[in-house]
Amino acid sequence: MPTPQSLCLINNHFVPADSGNTFPVTDPATDKAIASVPDCGSAETWRAIEAAAAALPEWRTRPAPARARVLRTMGDLMLRDQDRLAAIMTAEQGKPLAEARGEIAYAASFLFFSAGEAERVYGQTVPASASDKRILVLKQPVGVAAAITPWNFPSAMITRKLGPALAAGCTIVIKPAEATPLSAFAIGEIAIEAGVPAGVVNIITGDPATIGREIFRHDAVRKVSFTGSTEVGKILMDQAANRIVKLSLELGGHAPFIVFDDADLDKAVAGLMANKFRNAGQTCICSNRVFVHERVFAEFAQRLRAQVAALKVGPGTHDGVQIGPLIDDAAVEKVASHVANAKSKGAKVTVGGDLVKVPDHANRFFAPTLIEDANPEMKCFSEETFGPVVPMMKFSTEREAIDLANDTPFGLAAYFYTSNASRLIRIAEALDYGVVGANDAAPSTAQAPFGGTKESGLGREGGHWGVEEYLETKYVSWGV
Ligand code: ADP
Repeated sequence: MPTPQSLCLINNHFVPADSGNTFPVTDPATDKAIASVPDCGSAETWRAIEAAAAALPEWRTRPAPARARVLRTMGDLMLRDQDRLAAIMTAEQGKPLAEARGEIAYAASFLFFSAGEAERVYGQTVPASASDKRILVLKQPVGVAAAITPWNFPSAMITRKLGPALAAGCTIVIKPAEATPLSAFAIGEIAIEAGVPAGVVNIITGDPATIGREIFRHDAVRKVSFTGSTEVGKILMDQAANRIVKLSLELGGHAPFIVFDDADLDKAVAGLMANKFRNAGQTCICSNRVFVHERVFAEFAQRLRAQVAALKVGPGTHDGVQIGPLIDDAAVEKVASHVANAKSKGAKVTVGGDLVKVPDHANRFFAPTLIEDANPEMKCFSEETFGPVVPMMKFSTEREAIDLANDTPFGLAAYFYTSNASRLIRIAEALDYGVVGANDAAPSTAQAPFGGTKESGLGREGGHWGVEEYLETKYVSWGV
């Protein structure tokens, strides 16, 4: 693997932890260490924030087209290095190389889109109620931003925050997930090559709770954008209360996937396969509960069975592999426990259901699994599985499908298939989710607002909405 710097980035210098301590990064497919990265704490985090604060006055006043150029160059460099960056990602995260390449392009798309948005951060003038006054509404960067990112999309979840932050004129401190810091450092190298000034992008690895605490303690940090579990999101929201820090939270999901009896079954099966098995089911928007109308259930299940059984499982570096390893042993245990729980409640597992042995590799490969008679009593129907398991259940009325779909504290993404236009808009409006795929199971894109309702989070990423999260609205009342 072409290794990037295994050091933190502070003020455009790659640096070790003050203590010299490191922690290992392992390849989930083999469980072997592939790098050691700095185990930083409070002092280094504080320095990273100070560097970002020092860089802010110049960066926020740099003309938007100049900031945009830097972002575009970063995007170009990511595409230039797509294969190298994909190899790094597969080595530390496990996803198939083809998916990793796709993620690099997706990650770059946030930089390109943000570059365009940088030039369209418009304020407003508003008619005043007195002739000797003018009302100006300015949009200004909030200040230093911090990004705390997960391991399932090690590059895209960084650029989805870095792009709009820099476009808005903010500087940023990034704390990547412990499992996938190398993709973050590689982005740091690219930022420097693209001409990002010292202090504008900083990357720090180490104990999450310590780094998180410092981020919320330092006065300069005015915005924190987090993607990860609902559990950690709640801790961060609590910490944000101390200094009323602006927060964006993209948290867990529990996506329903509904197939009505008038659906195009070919499209629905293809949509579910792509949506569910990407990243071995380790995505917050992948379908976790599949509801199929009783009239088409048998037909849908039969088609799905064949396709699920045909998926190729193996190390992400092997040709044609579609399902890589799960990220760690805890992930394997969770998936296995959901399957065991379903079985203990009488479920019929028609495909998969167990680990797949891959010679000379770790026990992290879980077979794509189909459970055809799941019900809401089972864990796989009440918790996010984060693995390659499809639990299905029959429904008979539209009302029942909507109620089942909405019966969760989560509200990130939901999907449904129908060929009836009236039903399409009715269901889209009734689903209590931030992202709804109507005859579409791949809604993520840089232009659109992505985010959840209820315990799936706060705020939106993508489109102009994503940039807005890094802007403060200032009202200037001007006496003339
Ligand atoms: P997952 O369960 O997918 O690993 P987490 O929510 O635990 O998701 O992790 C997402 C990100 O949040 C990671 O970068 C992780 O290091 C970070 N994190 C975990 N705990 C904390 C915390 N107490 N404060 C700040 N960041 C945290």
